[in-house]
Amino acid sequence: MPVRTRVAVIGAGPAGLLLSHLLGRHGIESVVIDSRSREEIETTIRAGILEQGTVEILSETGASERVLTVGQKHEGIELRFDGEGHRIDFAAAVGRAVWLYPQHEVLKDLVAARLAAGQDLRFGVTAERVEDAETDRPRVVAKNAEGDTVEIEADVVIGADGSRSVAREAVTGTYGGYFREYPFAWFGILCEAPPSAEELIYSNSPDGFALISRRSPGVQRMYFQCDPTTDTGAYSEEQLWEILRSRVPGTTLNEGPIFQRDVLRFRSFVAHEMRRGRVVLVGDAAHTVPPTGAKGMNLAVADVVVLTEALRALLLDGDASLFDAFPDTARKRIWKAQHFSWWMTSMLHLQPGASDFDRMRQIGELRSVVESDAGRAYLAEGYTGRPLG
Ligand SMILES: Cc1cc2nc3c(=O)[nH]c(=O)nc-3n(C[C@H](O)[C@H](O)[C@H](O)COP(=O)(O)OP(=O)(O)OC[C@H]3O[C@@H](n4cnc5c(N)ncnc54)[C@H](O)[C@@H]3O)c2cc1C
Repeated sequence: MPVRTRVAVIGAGPAGLLLSHLLGRHGIESVVIDSRSREEIETTIRAGILEQGTVEILSETGASERVLTVGQKHEGIELRFDGEGHRIDFAAAVGRAVWLYPQHEVLKDLVAARLAAGQDLRFGVTAERVEDAETDRPRVVAKNAEGDTVEIEADVVIGADGSRSVAREAVTGTYGGYFREYPFAWFGILCEAPPSAEELIYSNSPDGFALISRRSPGVQRMYFQCDPTTDTGAYSEEQLWEILRSRVPGTTLNEGPIFQRDVLRFRSFVAHEMRRGRVVLVGDAAHTVPPTGAKGMNLAVADVVVLTEALRALLLDGDASLFDAFPDTARKRIWKAQHFSWWMTSMLHLQPGASDFDRMRQIGELRSVVESDAGRAYLAEGYTGRPLG
């Protein structure tokens, strides 16, 4: 017997969990499945920068109080190039801010809130495919941890299952989308050390980009630009610190044991279709951005805010107009975020094979941003995020 619900959500990431939370506030029942365990979801370290709109939706809807008490408000970042640091003051430029609050903490808060509300949330259940997209009873066919088949039949199925989405096949057929791969990647480390700077440093150096970020008072996140084929074991700890030091001249980095390393490939993707019949894609299932602009998780949240209103109108009022319009509505913000992420990436990274002219032009571009009110405001608006909805 299939499980029956109004909205079947594949994926308990930020998109899927927040959607079930917002739907729950309208009294709309959902079932959420995720192939991973609760522990894995709550301990995998990924995004860390939340736009102001993301923080507002989490705090105002009761999804997270800790985002305001534990999260750290940042009212600026530093852009460093040509031997100098330049602060972009978000508060002065656009009167907005971002919060540093790790994604896994957001997920802990959302899981706790959903379980407290009686949410049907199933860990260790892997969707294999979505069927009957063009009917009013689409179905998720999944397997639980014991290998038994689980079928979930719903009014609407949501693919919130990340960049390797299986729901995408039911929507786009051939996995089609707009795609761009960049010729570099980020080598990321997590280390046990106090913060090296009050705010994030985005550094354009002659040897390539580096980002000095943070995760908590005792754990810091740092990245440097590398070749996409770099192996995580390619460098000793001392070599990693040497590279990082050379990429942010003028800052003394607080060093400590490195306990995680990863290489993040840079890809931009937007699915050609975000909806087919009663199956909808949101978050990374529908689009991915390179991490430079810190947009990925925020864009997932923005999709969900728009989709909640569309589902409310469809499922409670029988009005399909917002649901039909959802892809076009969401795409406007998605492409702005794609542009912002591409712009930050190309302005700050060293392109392989860049000529002296290319380098000098890039410095000219950075100066145009930091030395003008309009330039600073443009960056600040994109980084802190436009209001949601
Ligand atoms: C290192 C790193 C740093 C980042 N930094 C930032 C940042 O600073 N700011 C920012 O905004 N974004 C950042 N991002 C991007 C951000 O993490 C993602 O955009 C965000 O997680 C997208 O959320 P989502 O819910 O769409 O997808 P995910 O978080 O990927 O969630 C998808 C969920 O679906 C589950 N799933 C997948 N397939 C199946 C299946 N077949 N059946 C059942 N479940 C399935 C997965 O287990 C997962 O839990 C970063 C990403 C990385 C990797």
